[in-house]
Amino acid sequence: MDAYELLVQYQIKPSVQRLAVMKFLIKNRNYPTAEDIYTALFPQIPTLSKTTVYNTLKLFVDHGAVRMITIDERSTRFDLSTHQCGYFLCKQCGAIFDFQNEAASQDLAFLVGKGHQIAETHYYYKGLCEKCAQA
Ligand SMILES: [Zn+2]
Repeated sequence: MDAYELLVQYQIKPSVQRLAVMKFLIKNRNYPTAEDIYTALFPQIPTLSKTTVYNTLKLFVDHGAVRMITIDERSTRFDLSTHQCGYFLCKQCGAIFDFQNEAASQDLAFLVGKGHQIAETHYYYKGLCEKCAQA
C-alpha cells in the first residue's frame, strides 16, 4: 500500500508530515497511539509537533482514511480503515486483536441500502486473551 496514493484516494493533500504519519500507519499495524507516532517520527522530522500529529490524525479520521479505536479508555489508538473489522481488547494485558467482520459488512450494506449514511462503525469485544485466560 502506498501512502501517497492512499492520501490522494481519500482526498487529502499530501505533505511531508502527512506522508510520514500515513507511512507509519501502513507499516505499524499494531494500533499505535498519537504519542507512539510522534515518538517514532520525531527523530526523522525534528519540526514535527505533537499538535501536528493530533491534527493530522484527526484529518485522516475526518476523511475516512483512518479509524479511531476507542476500545481502551486509557488510550486512543489508530488503524487504517481500509478493511472492515472488529477489535478485541484483553482487559488484563492490554493486547488488541482484530478480526474480519463479515456480519458488520452485511449490516452496513443493509443500512446504506435503506439510505442511511454511516460515518463511523465500532465493533468492540473485551475480555481475556488466550494467554491471560490460561494464566
Ligand atoms: Zn492478555
